[in-house]
Amino acid sequence: MNLTNFRFETDADGIAVATWDMPGRSMNVITPEVMGELDQIIDAVVADEAIKGCVITSGKESFSGGADLTMLQGLRDLYVKLAKEKGEQVALQSFFDESRKLSLLYRKLETCGKPFAAAIHGVCLGGAFELSLACQYRVVSDDASTRVGLPEIKVGLFPGAGGTQRVSRLMQTGDALQMMFKGEQVKSLPARNSGLVHAVAPRADIVQNARDWLKANPQATQPWDQKGFKLPSNKVHSPAGMQIWPPANAIYRRETNDNYPAARAILSAVYEGLQLPIDLALKVESRYFAKILRTKEAASMIRSLFVSMQELNKGARRPTDVPPSKLKKVGVVGAGFMGAGIAYVTALAGLEVVLIDRDVEAAEKGKAYSHKLVSDQIMKGRAKTADRDALLARIKATADYADLKGCDLIVEAVFEDPKVKAEVIAQVEAAVGPKTIFGSNTSTLPITGLAETSLRPKNFIGIHFFSPVEKMLLVEVIMAKKTGKKALAMALDYVRAIKKTPIVVNDTRGFYANRCVGNYLREGHLMLMEGVPPAMIEAAGKQAGMPVGPLSLNDEVAIDLALRIVKATKAQLGPGAIDPAQEKLLTEMVETNGRLGRKNRKGFYDYPESGPKRLWPGLADIVGGRLAPELVDMEELKQRLLVTQALEAAKTYEEGVVTDPREADVGSIIGFGFAPYSGGTLSYIDNMGAAAFVKLCEKLAKRHGERFKPNRLLKRMAKTGESFYGAAEKKAAA
Ligand code: NAD
Repeated sequence: MNLTNFRFETDADGIAVATWDMPGRSMNVITPEVMGELDQIIDAVVADEAIKGCVITSGKESFSGGADLTMLQGLRDLYVKLAKEKGEQVALQSFFDESRKLSLLYRKLETCGKPFAAAIHGVCLGGAFELSLACQYRVVSDDASTRVGLPEIKVGLFPGAGGTQRVSRLMQTGDALQMMFKGEQVKSLPARNSGLVHAVAPRADIVQNARDWLKANPQATQPWDQKGFKLPSNKVHSPAGMQIWPPANAIYRRETNDNYPAARAILSAVYEGLQLPIDLALKVESRYFAKILRTKEAASMIRSLFVSMQELNKGARRPTDVPPSKLKKVGVVGAGFMGAGIAYVTALAGLEVVLIDRDVEAAEKGKAYSHKLVSDQIMKGRAKTADRDALLARIKATADYADLKGCDLIVEAVFEDPKVKAEVIAQVEAAVGPKTIFGSNTSTLPITGLAETSLRPKNFIGIHFFSPVEKMLLVEVIMAKKTGKKALAMALDYVRAIKKTPIVVNDTRGFYANRCVGNYLREGHLMLMEGVPPAMIEAAGKQAGMPVGPLSLNDEVAIDLALRIVKATKAQLGPGAIDPAQEKLLTEMVETNGRLGRKNRKGFYDYPESGPKRLWPGLADIVGGRLAPELVDMEELKQRLLVTQALEAAKTYEEGVVTDPREADVGSIIGFGFAPYSGGTLSYIDNMGAAAFVKLCEKLAKRHGERFKPNRLLKRMAKTGESFYGAAEKKAAA
């Protein structure tokens, strides 16, 4: 055998062990080479009479993260090329054959006549878990890091190497569907209890455990290859089956609004596959897989949520000529809502934190937030008391700026008031050395303006978090006019250290994310003022693929904040810069009715002490008339809600605020949940085509006003047929 990614040894009892350990990689992934070597291993196990069975395990800290998604991207590219050169039919056949190879390989493994066992420690996901599902036996380590699962749905795909068929033959259908819909990662004990794996053992014993099982079960076959096999939830067309499928359809609709072809494919593949013998069922799955892999949703999600996100996390925007920062100590000034969260994520990353507020009590209150967050983790079994002690020991709560001495980086999160910020900047700069970088978490004040009060504008940068800090993955890093590359490098090193994803943007009012999401809120407000029933506005937001409707979202971020921003924009840019209907609505809500949002339990919704939130009936009085629901065009509402954000993203791109389509897309999905199936704001336009998008904008502008008018860049793109990614690739190649 010619193996580079596996070691292969056979013991005296005739049990072979294939240890997957790819050279030069920290994690095993399935590549064409790995597939070729697995094929050789199966052949060798079958050919050698002395071998009774084979254990597959990993030589790394984890089993494997699954298939190399760039390999799948490559398959798609090959299809496009073949279709051009040899026609659709040839391309489709080749695509089907190629995309089926892994599934056939796994089927070969499980029917080769000798048993295989997977010994799993760490994560075992996607295609790698499908490999272990094809093994007759699976043992997992009892370690907290061990997890199995099929997360393909998160990048617009579904398990296409037998996962949908094997999982639904091992577990209750409802559980199997849920696990795949959610892309759940299942820990060792629940995995064993639900039938996904057979045994749990200490890490050091998993290989021996698998060996022993193979020795005792040399004739083992998969349950579905045995005569009389019964499905865990009985037949699809049976009274039991009928308890499952109608609700499964409804849950699918509720969770996806039919925006995710991959989720629908899971439902179809399981429904159809469970009515067939396994080989045919696997073929059905393969047909769906080939179809899904060619969808624009899968292509866009793989690009944004896997490839681009990885590139940004690895520092795609980091200046290469600045050596890595030796980041040890971070000062967080302002221990309020945001500062407290920033202190927590920083300490969680193992960095020392000095947390400052106006007095020690306020600083301690901010630190107490970390106590609460780790305690919640302890309750959930995800952390130990010792972790809490260690984390809290890394946070020094103080009111003394002198404690900031020695900090490599400061993150400022005091009141959103330029005067207060200027005082804090002066106090910090008096306490720290000339090399310390200063990052402001302001959400509305241009960084260049704040940097004017700084003695060291080269060291001054924006580091904009989203709330709640501990949950939100995005951080916007904002370059002011004079920000230097060392400040940028430090900010990006910090964002990487706290395991968040950065996008680098140039300075402007609202930066990138808040400009787009602000438009989403405004469109919701304007719809309300037009008389669209609020429940329809909210439903349109969700059906378009946003995580929550615009009114709910405004309740979360606070209605008084929205009003403050509208007023500030009016004061600085004049009355033409705002929409009077929006100002009227927000003023009535906040100033006349005291409705501030979820924070005072009174917003567009009422938040009763018990029970779910309900739309506030008083909205009708503010709005006046209400349109009859049957006169409202739901499709158009959905378009308006997405187009207004995508158009704003295109404007930020034209203005040079965002300079890389990957950042616009990734930022929009992880920053404000822009319809993930689209791949992000600019992919939404690229997928529709600039010409069609411009046409849609013009139609909406005619019906709803100037705000939908396409910008010059889009009009040019519509003429030339250019796309955002096409242009960016050309630029990179030049
Ligand atoms: P907050 O009012 O909860 O906290 C501000 C804290 O700063 C308070 O604890 C206050 O005591 C402290 N402070 C005020 N003056 C100070 C001084 N001179 N020295 C030390 N501490 C001082 O406000 P927040 O919501 O945490 O917002 C803080 C910053 O973060 C603002 O610039 C805001 O625009 C920005 N931001 C907020 C959000 C959000 O969702 N709330 C999101 C992103 C960015």
